[in-house]
Amino acid sequence: MNEADSRHLSSQLEALGYHEADSSTDADLVVLNTCVIRQQAEDKAVGKLHTLKSMKKKKPNTTIALMGCMVGIKEAPRLKQRFPFVDVFMPPSETEPLLDYLGDQGLYDHNKLRDTREKAIRNAIQDEEFVLPALQRKSAVTAHVPIVLGCSHACTFCIIPYRRGIERSRPKQEIVHEVTTLVDQGIREVMLLGQIVDRYGTDLNEDYDLADLLYDVANINGLFRIRFLTSHPNWMTDKLIDAVKDIDKVCPQLEIPVQAGNDEVLANMRRGYTNAAYRTLVDRVRSRMPDAMVHTDIIVGFPGETDEQFMDTYSLLKDLRLDKVHLAKYSERPQTIATRKMEDDVTPVEKERRRKKIDELDTIIQTEKNSRLLHKTVEVLVEGRDDRKGRWRGRTLQNKLTYFEDNRDLLGKLVDVNINRAGPYSLLGSTSISLPSML
Ligand code: SAH
Repeated sequence: MNEADSRHLSSQLEALGYHEADSSTDADLVVLNTCVIRQQAEDKAVGKLHTLKSMKKKKPNTTIALMGCMVGIKEAPRLKQRFPFVDVFMPPSETEPLLDYLGDQGLYDHNKLRDTREKAIRNAIQDEEFVLPALQRKSAVTAHVPIVLGCSHACTFCIIPYRRGIERSRPKQEIVHEVTTLVDQGIREVMLLGQIVDRYGTDLNEDYDLADLLYDVANINGLFRIRFLTSHPNWMTDKLIDAVKDIDKVCPQLEIPVQAGNDEVLANMRRGYTNAAYRTLVDRVRSRMPDAMVHTDIIVGFPGETDEQFMDTYSLLKDLRLDKVHLAKYSERPQTIATRKMEDDVTPVEKERRRKKIDELDTIIQTEKNSRLLHKTVEVLVEGRDDRKGRWRGRTLQNKLTYFEDNRDLLGKLVDVNINRAGPYSLLGSTSISLPSML
């Protein structure tokens, strides 16, 4: 989400005549986009703010803007007191405050915008919104496209609804227009984003859902691959699973967070499903689509979680052999129901023990699953080059990170790669001597 917001803002600023500086110390304007999903992320943002504070002391004319979930929808006044050197505060996905500030300060590029009325300026910016920023223009292969903003679900551990506001789906025409514009600029894969992405459209009063949107986005010529994230177990319909199966461009990879495997913990998290329901869902996905990857998110050490309850999460992962785990230790967040009503009573040492136990199981499962790809040929979308190691980097349809050596310019191409080494987190391979038809 933040990457997409940063991209939009960069495009708008370039439309006003700004260009990317070599480093923040050279810049006239510094925008810090923030995540606060866990305390660690917030601490990192605060650390950066302290660096910016000393920079602002040395260069008082630098404009400093703070964006994203740290600002949220109503934290700005509090933050202004704590960080008075910050000039502008922007809620997630809202760039207006900065554009207004720069306009008020007379900091627009006047040559570009001379004789243009305020409204026309705004329209110009809107049109430029989907243009890739200069630095990405020749190199970006994948792009993130938010389709549902905010979240109205209120899981007890989660700060997002308080910081990103209520759930809002973007109109389908706008999404299709954005993806088409991105593809015209060389983007080959899009990741459609939402906190509960499969709820897309439920607030629009049209008979149109995520599956319908996938069909429409898949019709865009020149786009190779579509992914979407994050799903919620209660909103994964058979229609959606079938759309993923039937549309070639949609990658068979689903991100379905389970968070915990114990029913009492799940109820305390207010997730709205049980261990059994989650297992049934994964079976349903795998029986309809045997090659699908199911990734998940797990939180260990939620308030009140006993070792026995934790072991239900462990067993669920062991039984289902999910394809990848995004793992987090529970972190108390301001405003959330868990913080207000529950005690963060699992010790840091115990949280780390549980994290490690899940992590080790995840590594074993991924190593074993990846080793099945040895000596097989997989199709890789090439995303970039690691110049230091002289090799290309890309992903398989199932989202496995793959490296291979090849002297040709393959950026943005689909390439067949023979896998000759497989670790838990990435694959290493080589291309055939006979050139595939894509060249
Ligand atoms: N909307 C998605 C993802 C939300 S954020 C969902 O409903 O699952 C991404 C992940 O961060 C979550 O899935 C969760 O595993 C983790 N997370 C969120 N709040 C957290 C907290 N307070 N402590 C630890 N992990 C958290």
